Order: sequence, then C-alpha cells, then structure tokens
Amino acid sequence: MRKIIILFGPPGIGKGTIGKSLSEKWGLPLISIGDLLRDNVKKNTSIGMKAETFMKRGELVPDDVVLDALVDRISQEDASKGFLLDGFPRNLNQAQMFEKTIDTNDSVVVLHLVAPDHVLIERLSMRRICKSCGAIYHLKNMPPKKEGICDICGGVLVQREDDKPDVISRRLEIFRSETEPLLEYYDGRHKILTISAADNRENIIERIEGLALWV
Ligand code: AMP
Repeated sequence: MRKIIILFGPPGIGKGTIGKSLSEKWGLPLISIGDLLRDNVKKNTSIGMKAETFMKRGELVPDDVVLDALVDRISQEDASKGFLLDGFPRNLNQAQMFEKTIDTNDSVVVLHLVAPDHVLIERLSMRRICKSCGAIYHLKNMPPKKEGICDICGGVLVQREDDKPDVISRRLEIFRSETEPLLEYYDGRHKILTISAADNRENIIERIEGLALWV
C-alpha cells in the first residue's frame, strides 16, 4: 500500500514549503512537477526544451510531457511506500491518467489548502528561490540570513520568471478554470481534507497533523 498525498491548492498557497515539512516528518518523498520541469529546463533536456516556453508564460505544460516526467519519478525506489505530490494533477486529463497508475491498495488523500487571493499574490511576489538547490524563501516571513544568498548551499537567490505580476495573474486564472474543478472529480473518489493555509507554516503543519489522514 502506498500513501499518496495530493497537495492541492493555488500557486502561492505554500505547497512546496508545507510539502517539504510533511515529507521530512512522514519520510515520504515530495514530488514537485514544477521542480522536475525547472531542473529539466536548467539541464536543457528534451523535456526541458518542450516545457520552457509554457512555463515562462505561466501556462500549463502539455500533459504528455508532464506525465512522462511523473511516471518516471514515481517508479523510483524511494516512492515505493508513497509520496507527496506538489503541483499535480492540474487538469482533468492529468487526474484521469494518474488514476490509472493507482492500485486498489493505495490510499490517496487530497489535502486541499485554501487562502484568499491577496495572500497568494503577496507570497508569490515576495518569493525568492535558490538558483542552485531550489530552496524557497520569502523576503519578509522567511528571509535568508544573508541578503540574496541561500542559507543552505550559498547559491544566489532569484525571483522566478513566473512570479512576476502579469504571469501571477495568468497562473491564478488557470488554477480557477482548469485545476479547481478537480475537487468535483475527487469528491466521493478520494478523501478530501480542507485546511486554511493563510497563516504561518508551523500552524498549518500543526493543523494537518491534527487531522485523521489515514482512517
Ligand atoms: P509550480 O512550481 O507548481 O508553480 O509550477 C511552475 C510551472 O510549471 C507551472 O506554471 C506550469 O507551467 C508548469 N507545471 C507544473 N506542474 C504542472 C502540471 N501538473 N501540468 C502542467 N504544467 C505544470
């Protein structure tokens, strides 16, 4: 039996940050499709070359590209007991394709994170990531010790191209039109737990740990 947690919520809700804490606590790998794609872009692989223009515009990368990357990742040994998914699925086709990879023994929980739009926009525009290791910072709430430098690896912190204002609004629009309707698809199919993610990480994690995820 695999424990599969789908971190579900709009861009900026904190799926990456929350996912990292839960991954460490639960000993399950965090699989971020965005990170996988960014890594491919950095390395100039064929997946990266197909994905880059879509990502810059804040559009979804074609499903076949994303699925190839995902299927490859979840077949690795460290994902055999389960995993947390960040940023997948993002539309109905992806959800249906993913369902075909799930066994009847697998246990799937959708962790639905919610926060008002102004919180998301503030988080995205203040977010900086490490160019080398991908660590996530927030200029106000989670700043690095030394300005512009990653605490973990000493890499340079940058703003993601798609965290700039016009792309942020496009990403939120796509979430509302293509991703959010998936809640209807999951309703009755898998357990959906809705959690407010408007405050700080510690409170959100405490709230999640207080939930009966696997009963
Ligand atoms: P994220 O890091 O989750 O915000 O994703 C960054 C970008 O990667 C998105 O705006 C999309 O261009 C692409 N992306 C990530 N996950 C997916 C997905 N499941 N399907 C299509 N595109 C994706």
